[in-house]
Amino acid sequence: MCGITGYIGKNNNAIKVVMDGLESLEYRGYDSAGIAFIENKNLNIIKEKGKIANLKENINFDIQSNLAIGHTRWATHGEPNKVNSHPHSSGKFTIVHNGIIENYLELKEELLNNGYEFQSSTDTEVAVAYINYLYEKDNNILSVLNKVNDIFRGSYAFGIICLDDLDNLYALRKTSPLIIAKGDNENYIASDVPAILKYTNKYILLDDFEIAKIDEDNITVYDKNLKEINKEVLEFEGSLESSMKGGYDHFMLKEIHEEPTVFKNTIDTYLDTDFKNIPDLSKYNKIHIVGCGSAYHAGLIGKYLIEKLANIPVLVDIASEYRYNKVFYDEKTLVILISQSGETADTLAVLRKVKEDNIDTLSIVNVVGSSIARESKYVMYTKAGCEIAVATTKAYLAQLTTLIILTMYLTNNKELIDEINNMPTLLEEMINIDYKNIALSIYENKDIFFIGRSIDYALCMEGSLKLKEISYINSSAYQAGELKHGTISLVEKDTPVISISTNESLLEKTISNTKEVKSRGAKVIFVTNNDIDGDFYDYKILVPKVSELLQPILTIVPLQILAYEVAKLNGCDIDKPRNLAKSVTVE
Ligand code: GLU
Repeated sequence: MCGITGYIGKNNNAIKVVMDGLESLEYRGYDSAGIAFIENKNLNIIKEKGKIANLKENINFDIQSNLAIGHTRWATHGEPNKVNSHPHSSGKFTIVHNGIIENYLELKEELLNNGYEFQSSTDTEVAVAYINYLYEKDNNILSVLNKVNDIFRGSYAFGIICLDDLDNLYALRKTSPLIIAKGDNENYIASDVPAILKYTNKYILLDDFEIAKIDEDNITVYDKNLKEINKEVLEFEGSLESSMKGGYDHFMLKEIHEEPTVFKNTIDTYLDTDFKNIPDLSKYNKIHIVGCGSAYHAGLIGKYLIEKLANIPVLVDIASEYRYNKVFYDEKTLVILISQSGETADTLAVLRKVKEDNIDTLSIVNVVGSSIARESKYVMYTKAGCEIAVATTKAYLAQLTTLIILTMYLTNNKELIDEINNMPTLLEEMINIDYKNIALSIYENKDIFFIGRSIDYALCMEGSLKLKEISYINSSAYQAGELKHGTISLVEKDTPVISISTNESLLEKTISNTKEVKSRGAKVIFVTNNDIDGDFYDYKILVPKVSELLQPILTIVPLQILAYEVAKLNGCDIDKPRNLAKSVTVE
């Protein structure tokens, strides 16, 4: 997600430090960038859509400045363009913001009634205007920021410059990350440690609702009662690269560990006591779901759930096939397009073709403002944040979550809310299981099979893809009942077969198929939510049993981690597998 940097001090040029910091945060993903700096007591703001390199071209690095804040934006409110980019200003204040102010429309209304005007569509411009509005009534920056903590709902990390106090840089946060770093006669703010490592490794972590007042010598942190508090100064000892990965060996593992939060954020966007931010879909009696790779696999899960529970026929297809096939749709068909990047070329081509035929489209996309999101009639954003590992994990999980919400919406089912609240904890438990032993027993094999029935088969397809894309082991997924119509001839002694069974009504059938491969010497890893024992498996992975709708969310986790561990044992380049790209913008 977005990145914030800020600097106050005389030892370095604030513009250079802030731009260096933004470049080190590039890995977080962004769509535009900007900087505000003070030159001879005057405020300058430069911002650009797109890469930091575009912004740099417009900056004169010879200008001397001792106070600056910078931002890379990952748009949530308003498309990625220059006007919506940060920093945003109002009156005496200029801010950069990471997060979402959930009650910004309410605040905007109040500001409009009090004569404020807005240029951008962002929640951030409302935030800075509101800060200025409070300051007009109460000329005390700290007390204004303290009030903000009571008034703003949602998440925020702010870097703030006030023209009435250019000896200080201000910061506060709730939920979104922010650190304050300490140098000699110079201090910094940043979203994450990599941004400051070139200059210092000493930093403090700002906690929720804390306010920092920072001059070139001192960092003063205040609590909710505006009492000064002592904060521990931490020292970062790792390398720049390890800092970006938050201590994990790979981005993929870091992203798997983010899944409980991603699930929660996606749920919170569309569901509290009732559904929200979901288009009215009552007129559709047929759904087509189109995607590529993992997005297609997510679509398969969507098909099982929507058909079974909402009773609406669903066709799922791979975008590069669908666009050339004869398809049958009418004005009551909704075409759902799934893409992490929102730029997947084949999926975009399908979208354009479908639109030409005047058929309604809904996209499920992670990257805000991407082509597929902009061009489709309706969009539901997945809240996975920036995904860096090429092999998707958390974005796929967010796609599943969105399809689950859609199924609940189509069936008007709100009964699962308590169970949903418990899901992040269960996800955590699944992530913390040690899968290394199982990985050790299969990583040297040349072929690995996944078998399952119904929705478990869709999970097999994703598990198999994950394994082959990062470990380069040949792997196939089969419907468990289909194996004996050919593929079982490939099963010999110690061939790994990962058998998935989470559907009570199909348990016995899948066990029978699993016994068929076990009798031929297969090494069986049985993934199930049923605490059944037997001699037909070598390893069992027990997944907590939850409602049918939520089950795939938990069952996919061991498959993702197993793929990761196997690839690691094989010494593969996990985050950047050969021949693959994160955003597939060619057909
Ligand atoms: N909600 C803000 C916006 O859309 C901040 C997004 C971010 O965290 O980059 O501008």
